[in-house]
Amino acid sequence: MLSDEELLRYSRQIMLPDVDIQGQETLAKCCVAIVGLGGLGSPVSMYLAAAGVGELVLVDFDQVDMSNLQRQIVHCTESIGMDKVLSASKALKQLNPATQIFTVKSQLTQTELPDELQQADVIVDATDNFTTRYVLNKFCVHHKKPLVSGAAIGLSGQVTVFDTRESSSPCYHCLYPEGHEEQPMTCSESGVLASVVGMIGTVQATEVIKLLIGFGTTLVGRLLVLDAKHMEWRSLKLTKDTQCKVCGVQTS
Ligand SMILES: [Zn+2]
Repeated sequence: MLSDEELLRYSRQIMLPDVDIQGQETLAKCCVAIVGLGGLGSPVSMYLAAAGVGELVLVDFDQVDMSNLQRQIVHCTESIGMDKVLSASKALKQLNPATQIFTVKSQLTQTELPDELQQADVIVDATDNFTTRYVLNKFCVHHKKPLVSGAAIGLSGQVTVFDTRESSSPCYHCLYPEGHEEQPMTCSESGVLASVVGMIGTVQATEVIKLLIGFGTTLVGRLLVLDAKHMEWRSLKLTKDTQCKVCGVQTS
C-alpha cells in the first residue's frame, strides 16, 4: 500500500495508465542492480531512485575523480576521492529516502559474483569493459535475468536489452562473441560529450521501468544506435546465435 506521501510523490507517474497504482506498487517491491556508477550509471541510478524503485544495488570499484564530474552527474565536487558507490548512495538517499541502497565495491571480473546480484529483478550494464560485460552476461543467461546494456563514446552510443526469459532473445555474447572483440576505447582514452551518456542512460532507465512493471515493447532483439553529431537513432535487428557458447543449445 502506498502512503499519502508516496501517492503525491509519484502522482505524475501514477496518472499514466501503463503505470497506475499497481505499477507504482510493483516498482516499490523491485530490486535493480546497476553495475558501473559512471556516466551511464549516474542517470540510470538517479531516475530509478526518483521513479520509486524499492531497492538498488550499486556496484563499482572506483573512486570519484575530478575528470569524472563533466558527465557522471550522480557525483559532486565534494565527493572527489570518495568511493563511487558511497558517493552515489549519498546522492540517491537525498533524492529519495524511501529507496534502499546496497553498495558493493567490486570490479566483477570474477565468476563468483556477490549475493546481492541474485536479489536483482533486472541488471543494468553500465560498465566500459568487455571482461565485466561477459561475466554479467553469463550470470544473466544462467539466472534468466534481463540485462539492460548500454555504451557511449565520443558522440555516439548504443543500447539494447537481453532477456533470455524469451527464447528468441539473443545474449551479449551472440552480438559480441568472446575472443573476437577489440578492446573498446574508454571515455578516458577518447573522450565523450557530457550529455551523450545521459541520452543512453535515460533509455536504459526507461527500459528497466518497462521491464519491472511489464508494459510496452522493450529493446529485446533490437540495438538502438545513436549518432549524436547528426542526431540520428538507428534501430538494428539482432538475432540469436543458435551456436552461441553462452545462450545457445549446448552440445557438450
Ligand atoms: Zn548468446
